[in-house]
Amino acid sequence: MKAVVLEQVEGKTLAEVKQISEPAIELGNVLVDVEWSSLNYKDALAITGTGKIIRNFPMVPGIDFAGRVASSDDANFSAGQEVVLTGWGVGENHWGGLAELARVKSEWLVPLPAGLSARKAMIVGTAGFTAMLCVMALEDAGITPESGEVVVTGASGGVGSTAIALLHALGYQVAAVSGRESTHDYLRQLGASRILPRSEFAETRPLEKQVWAGAVDTVGGNVLAKLLAQMNYSGCVAACGLAGGFSLPTTVMPFILRNVRLQGVDSVSAPQVRRIAAWKRLAELLPESFYEAATTEISLEQAPQVAESFMSNEIQGRTLVKVS
Ligand code: NDP
Repeated sequence: MKAVVLEQVEGKTLAEVKQISEPAIELGNVLVDVEWSSLNYKDALAITGTGKIIRNFPMVPGIDFAGRVASSDDANFSAGQEVVLTGWGVGENHWGGLAELARVKSEWLVPLPAGLSARKAMIVGTAGFTAMLCVMALEDAGITPESGEVVVTGASGGVGSTAIALLHALGYQVAAVSGRESTHDYLRQLGASRILPRSEFAETRPLEKQVWAGAVDTVGGNVLAKLLAQMNYSGCVAACGLAGGFSLPTTVMPFILRNVRLQGVDSVSAPQVRRIAAWKRLAELLPESFYEAATTEISLEQAPQVAESFMSNEIQGRTLVKVS
C-alpha cells in the first residue's frame, strides 16, 4: 500500500511517501480502505517532528480517516460499510490514516451518520469533531444563544473555523479572535459577527469587564488567561488547544468571584456514545457553504510539505487529504 512513512534519522523526523506492506493483522480486527484523511495541528507536530507525538519509528501518521470497511471480524461492521475514525492514539502509537489501508480495533470506529460522506467527514476531521465537543460542553454548562456572545480563538484554524460555523448555525452571536487580517473575510463568511486581533489578548488583569457568555479556546496561554478574566458571571470556557502554548498564567479570581467554569475538552478518548452524538449533530448542523469555504484539498504526496505550513500559521480552515 501507499503511505506516508515517518522515520527518525539522527534525531530528525523524515517524512516520505512510499509503498509498504499492509498493516499487520495484530493491529486490529477491522481493515479499512481509507478514502480520505486530513491534516490537523497534531499531525503537523508529528510529521515535522516539532512535537514529541511519535515515540516508535517507523510510523504511519494520520490521526483520522474515513473510508469503507474492507474486512471485519466484528459482526457490527461489514465489508463496504462507511466508517470514520478519530483519536485513540491512531497516527501516534498505532499506524494511522495517511495510508491506503488502516487496520484498527472495531470499537474505535464510528459508522458514518446519514448525510455525511467520507469526504465531508474528513473535511470535519478531528478538528471539527473537537469543535463539536466544545460546543456540546458549552451547552452542558447551560450557555444558550440568549446567554450572550460566544468567542472563538485560533479562529481561522480547523477547530476554530468549525466552531464558528457550528455556533452560527445554532443561532449564537459569535466573535472571532485571530492573529491574521488576511482571514477576516473568511471568518465573516463562516458566521463571525466581529473579529478581534490576537494582539489584544497579550496581557490581562485578574478580572476585566465581563464580555463573554461562552468561549471555545484552541490557543491556551495568555489568550486563555484573558478570556477567563472577561467571562460573564457563570460563563464557560471550553478549552481544547495549545496553539499559543501550554501555560496558563491566570488567577483563581474568575472562578471564585464570577462562578466561571473552565471545561477541558479531549477528543482522543471521548466515549463512544458522545462520539456518535457529536457526528450526528455535525451531519445535521454544518451547511454546504462550510464545506466549500473551509476546504483545501491535497494529495498524499503533498502532506509532508503542507504539514510545515501549520507550524508557520499559514493554514486556513481544514486540510483534506485525498488518499485513494
Ligand atoms: P490549526 O493549525 O488549524 O489552527 C490553529 C490556529 O491557532 C491558527 O490557525 C491560528 O489562528 C492560531 N494560532 C497559531 N499559532 C498561534 C500562536 N502562536 N498564538 C496564538 N494563536 C495561534 O490547528 P487545529 O485547529 O487543528 O488545532 C487547534 C488546537 O487545538 C491545537 O493546539 C490542537 O493541538 C488542539 N486540538 C486539541 C484536540 C483535543 O482533543 N483536545 C483535538 C484537536 C485539536 P489565527 O491565525 O486565526 O489566529
